Amino acid sequence: MSTARTLLDNAADKLPSPNGVALAIMELWEDEHATINQIAHLVQSDPALSGRLLRLANSANTGLRPVTSIPEAVVRIGLKSVGELAVAFSVIDVNHYDERCQAFDYQGFWSQCLLMALVSRELGRATCVAPPEELFTCALMMRIGILAFATIFPQAYSVLIEAHPGDLGVAERQQFGFDHNDLSAEMLIDFGLPVALVEPAKFHEHSSKADFEERSRGAKLATLFHLAYQLSTTCLEKGIGEASQANRTKTLARRLDLPIDQLSKLLKQSVNEWQEWSKILDIPAAPLPPTDTPASEDDPAASSSPGGKLQALLIHAEGGDHALQSLLEARSIHVHACREQNEFLRLALQIQPQLIFIGEDAGIEKDRLCRLIRSTEWGKTVYLVSILDGYESEQVTQALSAGADTCIPEDIDEQALDAHLVVVRRFFDLQAKWEHDRAELRRIANELALSHRRMEVLSLTDQLTGLPNRRSAIEALGQAWSVSERSNLPMSVIMIDIDHFKRINDQFGHAAGDQVLADVAKALKADTRQGDSSYRMGGEEFLLLSSALDIKQIIVVAERLRRRIAALDIDCGGHRIQLSISLGAAQREAEHEHFDALLSAADKALYAAKSGGRNRVCFYHNKRIHSIDPSARDRNQTT
Ligand code: GH3
Ligand code: MG
Ligand code: MG
Repeated sequence: MSTARTLLDNAADKLPSPNGVALAIMELWEDEHATINQIAHLVQSDPALSGRLLRLANSANTGLRPVTSIPEAVVRIGLKSVGELAVAFSVIDVNHYDERCQAFDYQGFWSQCLLMALVSRELGRATCVAPPEELFTCALMMRIGILAFATIFPQAYSVLIEAHPGDLGVAERQQFGFDHNDLSAEMLIDFGLPVALVEPAKFHEHSSKADFEERSRGAKLATLFHLAYQLSTTCLEKGIGEASQANRTKTLARRLDLPIDQLSKLLKQSVNEWQEWSKILDIPAAPLPPTDTPASEDDPAASSSPGGKLQALLIHAEGGDHALQSLLEARSIHVHACREQNEFLRLALQIQPQLIFIGEDAGIEKDRLCRLIRSTEWGKTVYLVSILDGYESEQVTQALSAGADTCIPEDIDEQALDAHLVVVRRFFDLQAKWEHDRAELRRIANELALSHRRMEVLSLTDQLTGLPNRRSAIEALGQAWSVSERSNLPMSVIMIDIDHFKRINDQFGHAAGDQVLADVAKALKADTRQGDSSYRMGGEEFLLLSSALDIKQIIVVAERLRRRIAALDIDCGGHRIQLSISLGAAQREAEHEHFDALLSAADKALYAAKSGGRNRVCFYHNKRIHSIDPSARDRNQTT
C-alpha cells in the first residue's frame, strides 16, 4: 500500500471542504428537483470531494475507461449516491475542525484551486492539448497534497509553514521523506486519474524540472499546468493585469503557441466565472491577503465555544421564545434558536453544535431532518433531542427510529431536564475520551507510515555516499527500460570503476578510501544532469543512467567525468590523493533483450578500458568495443 494511501486512510476521510460548498450541497440534497448537473457543478468546486467521488466512480469501474471528469463520475455513480457521499463528507467545516492547521490559509487554498482549475480548462479549450474537463479536474486537485499534510499533521505542518513560507518542498522532504507534489500525485493516481495527466501536473510549480521530450504532450501539459498555477498565484496577489503581463506568463504562453491577448481574454473570462462561483460557495474571490479579522459579536461561528460551554441548536416554531432556551441557558448551555429549516442548516454548519433540539411543530418534517443530520459525518456524533407535545409510546418509537438520542416533553420540568443533562454530559465525556484515544491512534499510525517511508528511503540509499544503491539502480533500470521500449527513446548507461582503488586503501588507510569514494560520488552528482541519475553499485563501482542521451552524447558525458575525476586533488589528513576512473558506456540496441544485456555490454567496455591502460572511456556500439583514443581524446576522436 502506498504511503499516501496509508496516511489518508488514517486521516479517516477528514480532508476539509469549504463551508459554502457543504451548505449548498445540503440545500440541493433537500431539493427534490435537483439535477445531476447542479450537483456536479457544486462538487466540482471542492478538491477533497471531487477526489472522493472520482475514487468511488473508478473503484466500481473495472474494465472500463477511467473516469476523469466530475460530470462523468456523477453519471456513472448516480445522483442518489453522489448526494449521499457529498452530504456525508461535506460537513467538515474547517472553522470547527478540532485539529486545524493554524498557519495554513484554507480559504486561500480553495480559492486558488478553483481559479487554477478554471484557467486550466480555458487553456485546454484554447490549445486542445487535452479535454478541458479533464484538465479542470486534475488542476483542481493537483495541490491536494498540501491539504492532506495540513489535515494529517496539523501541528507539525503549521510549524513547517511558518518556518518555510517560501518553498515548502525541501522542508517537507526532510521532515516527511516526500513533498506535497509527490503526495498529490499519489492521491490523484489513487482517485483514478491517468498517469499521463498526473505526471505533468506534478511539475506545475516548476515545469523546468520536468523531463519530458521537447514539444511532447507531456511537456505541453506541464507548461499548461505551470501557466495556470503562475496565473492564479499572481492574480490572487496582484490582480489580472500583472498576471497576464508578467514575463514568465509570456514565455509560457509562447511555448503553448498562445497569443498574449488571447491569454488575457481567457484569464478575464476565468476570473469572472470564478467570482460568480465563489459567491455561491462562500469562498473569498477577491484577491485579499489572509487576515485574522477579529470575530464580530453576531457571528455565530465566532462564539462557537465560549468558555467551553456546550453549544445547542434549537429549531422550533417559537424560535428564541421557547421556554426551554432560558432553562438551558441557566444551565450554562449556549443556545442558538431558529424557526426555519434553511436557517437551521446554515447555523448547523456554522456552529456545529453538540446538542440539537428539534421541536414538534417547527413546520418541518422532523424525522427527515433527523435522518439528514445523522447522514453527515458531524451529525453522527451530535446529541439529538426530540421535543414531543405528547409523550405517546408511538411518538417516542418513531423519533428514536429516525435517529434521536432521546425525547423530552414540550413542558419538561427542571428536575427532569437536569436528569437528562447528566446523561448528556456523560455522553460527551465519553466521546471526548474516545476522540482523544482515536487521535492518539491516528498519530501513532501516521508516525509508523512515515518511519516505514524513511526505512524504504534508507534501504534504497548508500549511506557512505548518499547515492541511491544497487537495489535502487535495478528498479530504475527496469522502469527506464520499459519507457524506452515503449517510446523508442534512447537509453544509455556508463559503468564506472575507480582505478587501483585497493592501493589507495593500502597506502592511506580505509578512512581515506572512504573519503575518496564520497568525493567521487560528489563529482558524479555534480555532473549528472536533470533526467539522468547516478548510483553506487557496490565497492568502488558506480553507474550513470540516462533515459534521454544516445551513445554519442553519453560518451561526451563520460569523457567529461573522466577528466573531472583525474583533476581531483583530495586532501586527506595531510595527504594529497590523485586518482583516475575507467568508464564503459553502452546504449540500448536492438540486440539487447533486457537491461541485463545492456549492463553487460557496458561492462565489457569497462573491462576494455581497464585492460587498455585505465583512465579512459570505452563504449560498446554495433557489436564492437570502441575506445576513445587517449592521445587524441581532447579532440574527442575515436579509434
Ligand atoms: P582496478 O583498477 O582493477 O579496478 O583495481 P582496484 O584496486 O580498484 O580493484 P579491486 O577490485 O582489486 O579492489 C577494490 C577494493 O575496494 C577492494 C575493497 O577492499 C575496496 N572497497 C570496497 N568497498 C569499500 C568501501 O566501502 N570503503 C573502502 N575504503 N574500500 C572499499
Ligand atoms: Mg571494481
Ligand atoms: Mg577498481
